Amino acid sequence: MDRLRTGVVSGLLSSVADVVLGRSCAGCDEPGIALCEECRRALRARPRLRRSVDLGDIEPGLHLPVACSLEYRGAVRQVLYRFKDHRIPHLARPLAPALAASIGFAAEHAGVECTDTTLVVMPTRRSTAKRRGFDPLGSVVAAAIGEQPVADVSTPLVDTRRAGTSKALGVWERQLATAGAFSVRGQVRGPVRGQRRGRGRLPDGPVILVDDIVTTGATAREAAATLIVAGVHVVAVATIAGTP
Ligand SMILES: [Zn+2]
Repeated sequence: MDRLRTGVVSGLLSSVADVVLGRSCAGCDEPGIALCEECRRALRARPRLRRSVDLGDIEPGLHLPVACSLEYRGAVRQVLYRFKDHRIPHLARPLAPALAASIGFAAEHAGVECTDTTLVVMPTRRSTAKRRGFDPLGSVVAAAIGEQPVADVSTPLVDTRRAGTSKALGVWERQLATAGAFSVRGQVRGPVRGQRRGRGRLPDGPVILVDDIVTTGATAREAAATLIVAGVHVVAVATIAGTP
């Protein structure tokens, strides 16, 4: 490698290292602080309903409220990207209040008590989990339930999508790509007999489906539909952030 390229690469590596080690802000790269005051303000939870997920094809008239607390742009987007792709576990803590607020807001909107509600955490694709070596959403959930106690946290969903990114797909392609994306652990899709087999593992009470970011809502819809067909009482979706 020539000297110029070596310089560029080592410059990039050192700026990533500065963020990882908390020597510069994860949201805006300001040196000397892990998360600056302005980016902390951007992470302040403002819970709202993002959209609803239409499940009328499964149960007539069924719409699930989707709550998020942050706008997925600017510093929020950068912090989430670094948290997940640069594997910076300490960022779970500043992201947790937003998820806790969304869970509370979603429960209130669905007319259920958080303490009666089980969180079902959206699964990570196996290939992605392996590459990252840690579970970003799981660690935010763990921190969030310290602030917003719930009945239980459960991970019955399995992501059966093939490896590959959905980031480049449009709305329609994404809907197609998510059809049949999930299955329920220990259950066989389709025949009633197969569905009953794993029922003991599934939550009985109300369930809020939890994800990091909501964009089109297609992934949440597919996951919720899979749970509902398996007999789970899904009442809402709660996410950290939503696209504006
Ligand atoms: Zn900053």
